Amino acid sequence: MKVLIIEDEIKLGNILLQGLKEHGMVAEVARDGSTGLRLALSKTYDTVILDVTLPLKNGFDVLQELRASGNTVPVLMLTARSGIEDRVRGLDLGADDYLPKPFAFKELLARVRAISRRPQIEPQTVLKLADLELNPSTREVKRAGQPIDLSAREFALLEYFLRHKEMVLTRAMILDQVWASDYVNDGGSNVVEVYINYLRRKVDQPFPRKLIHTVRGTGYILQEKD
Ligand code: CA
Repeated sequence: MKVLIIEDEIKLGNILLQGLKEHGMVAEVARDGSTGLRLALSKTYDTVILDVTLPLKNGFDVLQELRASGNTVPVLMLTARSGIEDRVRGLDLGADDYLPKPFAFKELLARVRAISRRPQIEPQTVLKLADLELNPSTREVKRAGQPIDLSAREFALLEYFLRHKEMVLTRAMILDQVWASDYVNDGGSNVVEVYINYLRRKVDQPFPRKLIHTVRGTGYILQEKD
């Protein structure tokens, strides 16, 4: 497994580099955001560890440009800030997980392993239900041929629904798959409901036939019939 560490703090970067190598991974460090983005775009890494505060280009911008290019490499964001806003921002921009500083190396290692185990999106498979289409490669979403603009998190949620259409998905399943499970404890319990509402507004509300249905007391289902 090959890991890219984008971290400007020399000491921390070296600790991570050394630690990952000791655990049998191939690791490289970029000391600024621009170099990090350039390396990440080369698509040769299995996971990227991304600091927020970086010279030349901050971690949010790196992540945004990486995802905008269609690159789906798993990203773990390191944040020194305790505020939830930065974490939510990172997740919204398409980070797979975050880790507040300071952290134990063991925990970082566990999270790197967890996010890199998630299946990578297979290219060229357009997911469909009725007149709703999602292309994981180009990140385009269309309903009745009209393009729909989704945030990274809304996209991930819709993709999860489409990969499990006509199946009841519980809130816990959605949290586990679309958010890191540990996010629940920090992020408040209604994050799924909030994002389902965002998604409904964009994907269902403008159209006569609703596809996202609430299964009372259980969760949600994506299906054609009411
Ligand atoms: Ca930094």
